[in-house]
Amino acid sequence: MHDPQAPLKSFPRKHSHLVCVDSDGTALDTMEVKHKECFIPNTIRYWDLQPVARYARQAAEFVNLYSRDRGINRFPALLKTFDLLEHWPGVPAWAKIPRAEGLRAWIQHETRLNNETLREAAERTGDPDLKRALAWSTAVNETVAITVHHCPPFPFVRESLERLAARADIMVSSVMPAEALAREWNEHGIAQYAALIAGQEMGGKREHIALASEGRYDRERVLMIGDAPADLAAAKANRVRFFPIFPEREAESWRLMYAEAAEKFLGDGYDDAYEGALIAGFEKSLQEKPSWMT
Ligand SMILES: [Mg+2]
Repeated sequence: MHDPQAPLKSFPRKHSHLVCVDSDGTALDTMEVKHKECFIPNTIRYWDLQPVARYARQAAEFVNLYSRDRGINRFPALLKTFDLLEHWPGVPAWAKIPRAEGLRAWIQHETRLNNETLREAAERTGDPDLKRALAWSTAVNETVAITVHHCPPFPFVRESLERLAARADIMVSSVMPAEALAREWNEHGIAQYAALIAGQEMGGKREHIALASEGRYDRERVLMIGDAPADLAAAKANRVRFFPIFPEREAESWRLMYAEAAEKFLGDGYDDAYEGALIAGFEKSLQEKPSWMT
């Protein structure tokens, strides 16, 4: 049987160090255009949120761009958007906010949240929420394919990858579909630095790191670079190192990687004190509650 995670299980170790890099909002400046132009218009259209479009847009932007949930998989992010709308005092009481119970149930037991596993579940159960979610997610991918172009890597990404790739194996670890990742990394000529591009078809980031690294690298020689708490959580779950890309301060973060952190990591000097200070600053930079709830 075809195993979508086979490339992770046979990850080709060439160096003693492994660097896992998230894509959206970490390496590529794509978060704004993807959410504002691709995800949100389809969310409003496919879930009949036209009467509350103004609120839906703000809630989705908060979840996906500004909150501690930034960077989570699209399906739980969609449900969090619905939850915010349901509990937002400003949203008119007559507005119908989807509950999407079928999608909630699917997320509870499925670990690989992607269009393929969703399609299989939708066909097997005939659940209307799953069918609707699949139509929405498919439309998002189509909109991304025609919309997201010319969004370059942040400054110092290319230089950092080049520096790291000389002495470390590099893996892209993202919850976007692999097809979009390959297109975007190739468009900007940075795919050459990655030994593997792992997308949502291969599971979540926690699984990507575990499968690629276990039995191949010492834990302190594995580094996850990410812009979201979900990336930090994936690193912590695997007890590997984390380097944060601060939202809105991406170039500054990558300059630090290029000028200092890369050498620290490769020279085994990326210790608890150095990492801890970065993580503390990162955790303070994201909002816990939307402005309308405080
Ligand atoms: Mg990200």
